[in-house]
Amino acid sequence: MSKLIDGKLVSCAVKERIKAEVSELKNKGITVGLAVILVGEDPASKIYVANKKKACEALGIISQEYLLPENTTTEELLELIDTLNHEKTINGILCQLPLPKGIDEQTVINAILPEKDVDAFHPSNVGKIMIGDYDFVPCTPAGIMEMLDYYNIDICGKNCVVIGRSNIVGKPMSMLLLHKNGTVTTCHSRTNNLSEVTNKADILVSAVGKANFVTADMVKDGAVVIDVGMNRDNGKLCGDVCFDEVKDKASYITPVPGGVGPMTIAMLMQNTLTASKKQNGLL
Ligand code: NAP
Repeated sequence: MSKLIDGKLVSCAVKERIKAEVSELKNKGITVGLAVILVGEDPASKIYVANKKKACEALGIISQEYLLPENTTTEELLELIDTLNHEKTINGILCQLPLPKGIDEQTVINAILPEKDVDAFHPSNVGKIMIGDYDFVPCTPAGIMEMLDYYNIDICGKNCVVIGRSNIVGKPMSMLLLHKNGTVTTCHSRTNNLSEVTNKADILVSAVGKANFVTADMVKDGAVVIDVGMNRDNGKLCGDVCFDEVKDKASYITPVPGGVGPMTIAMLMQNTLTASKKQNGLL
């Protein structure tokens, strides 16, 4: 029987730490501010943006929300980003993805000042992660590292297998594990004999986006299993991992919901705090 990695618990600990620091900064006359831009009506994005606002408010972080219509042009969005880049009270800028068709996502990402890019998607921040000298890490992989650390799960020398190679999860996840001296394999849809590879994993991270994708026969006895997936199975929120069968083989496992999800927002708050400290010469 495995031990549950409780993302709610760890995220609360992280948020408490942030709240105390934000309050300390306030006493010195320094504020922490995040601008969140949402273009269009995507229902999932609306929920994410609302949750980010709620988290800011709970921690004393100033939050500004910009809700733009679906037919916003790339130029209009770039204009807003330019204004926010120059706005002193805004330390972090986040443009909720995916953007509607017709807006060039990479152009928008490139327009956010790297020092305000709290999602860490700007090529400059991506490059910094690659060389291991970074201020911001994409929130989901950062949250996973925080959870592993909280549970004293050692990465050094371990076989780490990441399923998924997206720019926001899979690739940065692999890099962070590598920086902690894991022996990392990144798998994707063209990987041959996936199960053979995953069966060698001491730490297995699944970021595929398919319900019931990781079955017990793909998991080594005693492995640490991190489920990034957020899927719907008959309307019910679930991850990539067949939790009920894998939990009996894993040493540690994250549930969905209540695992990686809560950590993502906590790490966004952490990146925003870091941005404020950097911009105010405290780091
Ligand atoms: P994505 O961009 O769609 O990437 C999915 C990855 O899975 C791709 O690299 C793809 O390979 C790989 N893949 C697909 N089918 C596969 C197969 N049969 N075998 C092996 N690999 C396969 O997704 P993402 O943005 O990284 O997100 C992944 C999941 O995490 C989604 O469910 C998303 O909702 C969730 N998510 C959760 C959080 C959170 O806070 N909990 C945050 C972000 C994302 P190719 O590159 O070859 O296509």
